[in-house]
Amino acid sequence: MEAHGLQTMSMAFVTTDKTPMVWRGPMVSGAVMQLLQQTLWNELDYLIVDMPPGTGDIQLTLAQKVPVTGAVIVTTPQDIALLDGKRGIEMFRKVDIPVLGVVENMSVHICSNCGHEEHLFGEGGGERIADEYETTLLGQLPLHMTIREQTDSGQPTVVAEPDSEVARRYSDIARRVGAELSTRERNLSGSISSMSVKSH
Ligand SMILES: [Zn+2]
Repeated sequence: MEAHGLQTMSMAFVTTDKTPMVWRGPMVSGAVMQLLQQTLWNELDYLIVDMPPGTGDIQLTLAQKVPVTGAVIVTTPQDIALLDGKRGIEMFRKVDIPVLGVVENMSVHICSNCGHEEHLFGEGGGERIADEYETTLLGQLPLHMTIREQTDSGQPTVVAEPDSEVARRYSDIARRVGAELSTRERNLSGSISSMSVKSH
């Protein structure tokens, strides 16, 4: 599926909402590889893999079978989420995938009534973890009703309100990730195995 210049592929496109997705490790890894290898990607600039939290089979599969240039850690500011973030950084470092930085999501709640700001999940967590692991805080995203509404309606904030403060935050994060990537060699080791092209 393509929208706003982004090509996407998801397990959600090849299953129905009645399909149970309670899968064991090898099945999940197989599915991830299938999505990467069997999708007709068209001239990608970047391929971003959105992963579930944690340090499970999908992360390991990617590390072992796919040439990953870098990882972006997304966390919320509270301690329990930061723990997952830390484990993520440790794991990626262990398998020699550079961590490009940390994005702090839900960093502040902005009231849709009066616009007042509240740190529902605590303050400064993203910055602390970035400092501790000597990596970059790529940006902070607020918890705001309009982000959810616009995204659900198919018009994400960067499209719906490109000049808004929130859109600027998204763009800044993208720019910083792009800048980080531009300084690194493309990882061509262990390139995707068993890739084949068939004509029908
Ligand atoms: Zn309020």
